[in-house]
Amino acid sequence: MPSIGPTPVAPGTRRNGVVVPSDEHVEALAGVFEVATRDIRSVVVTQYSDFALMHGAIAVTRTNAIHLRGSAQRFFATPLLALHEYYHVLRQWNTGDLTVCRYIGEWIRQGCCYGRIKYEVDANRFAARNVQKWLRLVTGENHDVHHGNRQAVF
Ligand SMILES: [Zn+2]
Repeated sequence: MPSIGPTPVAPGTRRNGVVVPSDEHVEALAGVFEVATRDIRSVVVTQYSDFALMHGAIAVTRTNAIHLRGSAQRFFATPLLALHEYYHVLRQWNTGDLTVCRYIGEWIRQGCCYGRIKYEVDANRFAARNVQKWLRLVTGENHDVHHGNRQAVF
């Protein structure tokens, strides 16, 4: 894994700032995940997060929380990444399916191979299956999908 330094923060933007997603993104996520918009709004998104930086990850999720190494703007502009992380929160952490201990256990069972961890496999599969729906809901158009440059994330 390449070493990860702090992401440059735009002037006037503070580190560890909580971001309120746009109504457009909230409604698209609610549509994709088939939940109420309040369930999306209750997920706390923190950009330029020291917690993500500490984990050496682009994003780290927990119950009702997404910590981003970089900006929320870039996160929401990377649909596969956004859907992947919201899947971890809404379908795994918030349901109790995913815990730190379970993730580590799975990581060990899979020979420390990120790509085989079931939580990641499921999140990737969901993101791939729903990215076109997300794009339709966000913009009303079809787009090519750009894959984000991702590293170990949970
Ligand atoms: Zn993940």
